[in-house]
Amino acid sequence: MPWAGALARAAHHAPKLAAPAIIGGAEPPKPLIMLDPGHGGKDPGAIGLSGTYEKHVAEAAGQELRNQLLATGRYRVAMTRSSDHFIPLAGRVELAQQHGAALFLSMHADALHNPSVRGASVYTHAHGASDTQTADLARTENSADRYGGPLVHGASPEVQQILASLVTEETRTGSAHMAQAVVSSFRSRVLLLSHPHRHAAFAVLKSAQIPSVLVEMGFMSNRLDEAALKQAGHRAMVAGALCDAINRYFAAAGAG
Ligand SMILES: [Zn+2]
Repeated sequence: MPWAGALARAAHHAPKLAAPAIIGGAEPPKPLIMLDPGHGGKDPGAIGLSGTYEKHVAEAAGQELRNQLLATGRYRVAMTRSSDHFIPLAGRVELAQQHGAALFLSMHADALHNPSVRGASVYTHAHGASDTQTADLARTENSADRYGGPLVHGASPEVQQILASLVTEETRTGSAHMAQAVVSSFRSRVLLLSHPHRHAAFAVLKSAQIPSVLVEMGFMSNRLDEAALKQAGHRAMVAGALCDAINRYFAAAGAG
């Protein structure tokens, strides 16, 4: 498949480990999934009507998904954060790059202007936004670095290079396949927004070679979504659907 190349290339960036000589029939290394719980530390993300912080929901869902992915035995998993601290957007992309991630999954539950809108949705990177609601979301997400102070804006040359490089066509196709896998897996068990796969210029999705998606598990601006995402059982169901989507993605790429 044409987009399987993006996986192979991402795997190529994996850190070289001092492993014993490979004997015939040894299994290839498991793909590394980089989970990215949104916000953290001084950046709370969206705050729900009853006071739930998006950063806490994202972190709890991220931990749950990590456990589920590890339980399959098929993947290695890394997280941009596994505690409540601030990471600039470029730093999240850089971590995925450093780890040689095969897939980057950013997890959020932002707020919209319209409190009646609810349901999960998945986003890929594009220069133009699919709709005004998504353009607003990307603008809010991309402003997270304001919590970082002046240091964050003086990104290192390496990070600047990552952000300046173009997302390759293969990566774009891989990201789109992953987004479709998320929609398919959610359809039977998690309420979806209408037109659930959308796109905009999300800074955190701007990796040249690692297929990347951002999942809005629901919206903090909606009472029912907020109440659901506070429940561990609901988060486990969302994580289960995401785990299933990741399985579908790698099975289709022939790497699973
Ligand atoms: Zn967010």
